[in-house]
Amino acid sequence: MDNPIAPLIPEQESSQQSPDTASPEAVLKITEVFYSLQGEGLTAGLPTAFVRLTGCPLRCSYCDTAYAFSGGKPLTVAQIIAQVSDFKTPHVTVTGGEPLAQPDCLQLLKVLCDQGFQVSLETSGERDIAPVDPRVIRVMDLKTPSSGESQRNRLENIMHLSSADQVKFVIGAREDYLWALKMIDEHSLDQRCHLLFSPVFGQIDPAEMAAWMLTDHVTARLQLQLHKSLWGDEPGR
Ligand code: SF4
Repeated sequence: MDNPIAPLIPEQESSQQSPDTASPEAVLKITEVFYSLQGEGLTAGLPTAFVRLTGCPLRCSYCDTAYAFSGGKPLTVAQIIAQVSDFKTPHVTVTGGEPLAQPDCLQLLKVLCDQGFQVSLETSGERDIAPVDPRVIRVMDLKTPSSGESQRNRLENIMHLSSADQVKFVIGAREDYLWALKMIDEHSLDQRCHLLFSPVFGQIDPAEMAAWMLTDHVTARLQLQLHKSLWGDEPGR
């Protein structure tokens, strides 16, 4: 949605609802709660509290958070809120793994919003985003062919995206790039939400991808993973 004069497609009505009452006693499996700079998306560079939920049903070829597939520690929503509050930042990102694989993630998101945090959710796009609290900014992947998981894209999610949301394409090859252009065109994604093109770290030359984007006048934002430039693949960063 980088063209400010482009008309926006209104968010569709959802048949599902976010939980009316959120329980601070709901328990989630958590890999880590940490404080860092947001490395991706429209708020890149902002000090942010991260809540990384354990578990993911996908196995993307480029995954850099395999340590979140299993293990984790049970924490109540109230305990998570207490830890997040200690970081003294209004920005909270709930990530994974695939956070929506734990149904009580919806409770966590609602309580965080109720507490006044500015909340974003990073999701693979494999789960239904319709019940997510509408105050949450959804940063949703559309899995490209080289991820090995593009058949898991839940395309029904597209109709639930709002103009505040972000769709991310992780691009590891020219084939992925062309696939992303096709998806944007077929689903008018540039009129629906913000678009991010993220080159797979160490696999594709970002400068080459930038040249493709300029040649094709792509209405997406090139994003380089700030946290990887600063700290590499260190967990908790
Ligand atoms: S969805 Fe995310 S956490 Fe899950 S395998 Fe893919 S990159 Fe890793």
